[in-house]
Amino acid sequence: MKTKKIFDTDAFIKENKTTVTKCALSEREGFEKLYEAVTDSTIFSPEGGGQKSDEGFFDDVRVVDVQEFDGEIIHFLESEIPAGTEVLQKIDLDLRFRRMQNHNAEHLICGLIHKKFGYSNVGFHLSETSDENRNVIRIEAVMDVDGPIDAKDLEEIELQANMAIASNVPVYALLPSAEEAKDIAYRSKLDIEENLRLVVIEGYDICACCAPCLKSSAEMQLVKIIDSMPHRGGMRLTLIAGIDAVKDYIDIHKDNKKIMNILSSKRNECANAVENLYEKSMQLHEENSALKKEITDLNTKEVIKKITENNLKFYVFYAPDFDEIQSRKLINEVALKTKTVMAVMFEKKNSTYRFVVGKNADVTDISLRELAKNMQNKLSSRGGGSEQMIQGSIPANDDLINSFFEEMNK
Ligand SMILES: [Zn+2]
Repeated sequence: MKTKKIFDTDAFIKENKTTVTKCALSEREGFEKLYEAVTDSTIFSPEGGGQKSDEGFFDDVRVVDVQEFDGEIIHFLESEIPAGTEVLQKIDLDLRFRRMQNHNAEHLICGLIHKKFGYSNVGFHLSETSDENRNVIRIEAVMDVDGPIDAKDLEEIELQANMAIASNVPVYALLPSAEEAKDIAYRSKLDIEENLRLVVIEGYDICACCAPCLKSSAEMQLVKIIDSMPHRGGMRLTLIAGIDAVKDYIDIHKDNKKIMNILSSKRNECANAVENLYEKSMQLHEENSALKKEITDLNTKEVIKKITENNLKFYVFYAPDFDEIQSRKLINEVALKTKTVMAVMFEKKNSTYRFVVGKNADVTDISLRELAKNMQNKLSSRGGGSEQMIQGSIPANDDLINSFFEEMNK
């Protein structure tokens, strides 16, 4: 039997006395420990049309989910309430209100897009983020339309939608007969033959919808399109409305204020200030790279001079401020031009160096894998590599490292 849906015509009733007519252990997959209850009437709207079901209680028993099958509303309860029991249904009206704000704002935006471009709404869902206690902390509406819209037109639509909100026009649901429906021009994703329900935003939109709706456009508070991208030949738009949009504004303002303080910029000039800073940082990055290259080149010349003068087989170079790229570059330069095994101690942090040791492929009488083992034993280094290059980390004891390599040179 069909359940009387109180939310169809009044979405602001948060308590309802009704009688449980059926209650049985659920056989639905994943819901086996729950009870399926049907009542004479209900204020619980089921999941559908891109929106989750209402949350709430039957007396003190939590309602976990609500589904509709053939006009019958099934409430999934955490414990059994025998048929014949009179119960008080209670829903979380604050959550429903936020969902209605976002859902009806989506109707409004779609209606305006349909009027201006003739596009249809081909996809919709409310996207919700919850905290660890299952409280919904943010709601957004994600919608698809079947044609392209540029940024300027989207801004225009957004402005018109907010004017419509401010104009405080009535919002209500109609339940027309099939005959009556013939005379009404409405938007719909599906061809609905029976039980048509239309949500009207007077003067702006009429759309087939099964979800609870607001009473006036002003209740939407404000709507902001926060994301738009091309999607299957049309557009995917993400928007946020109502109290969720106000919260979003508060958060965005906090971020903006932080940037204002750091860059000493004016409220509406943060983007320019960040752009300037970014350009400056890129310039510094380039200058830094050029300086690093110059330092490596200078060091290469000096190292080669020392190695050649002293005819060294092993040479260790300390460069605590070098990064890995600089160190490898130095080794490659030296190894290419000499027959010396070169070690670089770089990136000194917490009394530890990172190191890299390399040699020319022509030097066959020295095994770097053997050297790695020796370094592990005598210098407590870690790491390994190939016959041409080894790398790792090593305690920053310069005296010990120096005497190790001096010994190798004997
Ligand atoms: Zn809808």
